[in-house]
Amino acid sequence: MPASVKPGVVTGQALVDLLNYAKENEFAIPGVNVVASSSINACMEAAKKAGGPIMVTFSRGGGQFIAGKAADNSDDAACIAGTVAGALHVRQVAKLYGVPVILHTDHCQKAWLPWFDGLMEANEESLEENIAICKKHMADFKKKFESEVLSQLVDLLLEMELGVTGGEEDGVDNTDVDSSRLYTQPEEVWQVYETLSAVPNGKFTVAAAFGNVHGVYAPGNVSLKPVILHNTQKYIKEKLGCDSDKPVSFVFHGGSGSSLEDIRYAIEAGVIKMNIDTDTQWAFWDGMNEYQKKNKDYLQAQIGNPEGPEKPNKKYYDPRMSLRAGEESMADRL
Ligand SMILES: [Zn+2]
Repeated sequence: MPASVKPGVVTGQALVDLLNYAKENEFAIPGVNVVASSSINACMEAAKKAGGPIMVTFSRGGGQFIAGKAADNSDDAACIAGTVAGALHVRQVAKLYGVPVILHTDHCQKAWLPWFDGLMEANEESLEENIAICKKHMADFKKKFESEVLSQLVDLLLEMELGVTGGEEDGVDNTDVDSSRLYTQPEEVWQVYETLSAVPNGKFTVAAAFGNVHGVYAPGNVSLKPVILHNTQKYIKEKLGCDSDKPVSFVFHGGSGSSLEDIRYAIEAGVIKMNIDTDTQWAFWDGMNEYQKKNKDYLQAQIGNPEGPEKPNKKYYDPRMSLRAGEESMADRL
């Protein structure tokens, strides 16, 4: 791992170093959707077991769920507050897992921009708050600290999505979209690459569609063409006249249910982030379901089980027991 990458939340130059390291060493960092502290912790537990790093991904709906479905969501208030709360949770505990963690948002279509604007505002508020704290406690190092905090908090990475990810996720249904839109053309990626490269200190990844679909389906229903990514790298290398065979950092959406062969071939083409939701959703549920099946006789009433009619069952129905079973199963799958 690059020296700049430390346990805890990774941002700015360290994040760029980490993504470049992933590309050089041909691995993709899992970007896993989360909906509660349980799934967030399962991600970090998996990263700890595997030696990290990991990306914790907040969708707009996942953020709202963290705030609570009964919370007022006027102007996306709950989507914003829940995403910020989840991010703060990660910031507090990531170091305790000893692994580098990247905070990432999921898809943001145009109509959802108020959610993202709210997150950006929260970022700026936290920047002002941090500077205020630094000023108070470390007046002597004010200048140095201001610039450090600034680079840490405003150095964002943009994931540019091209084409359409099929299937259905987070309330967006693309199941009937024209299939040509599922496959991005190299020219389209070049257009984006050229534009974003011109932004000073701009950091970006490209989620170019190559037949990706959200969800898991019976074999034969999804036709991934990772060769599109290989062809795109060749095309852009020619345009740039650069030495690198993989100038673009790609993102793989709809990773769940994909074959190992397709995943490996996509990673060879410069995929450095692979999004996973459906498979870990199933793993979380499966863990809780197995727990319920295994302890069924202790989960039918508060009192009374095979050991006696007056035996209490509190330690079986404590929500931590079933949630922990879900966490363990999700971490194992990851
Ligand atoms: Zn996606």
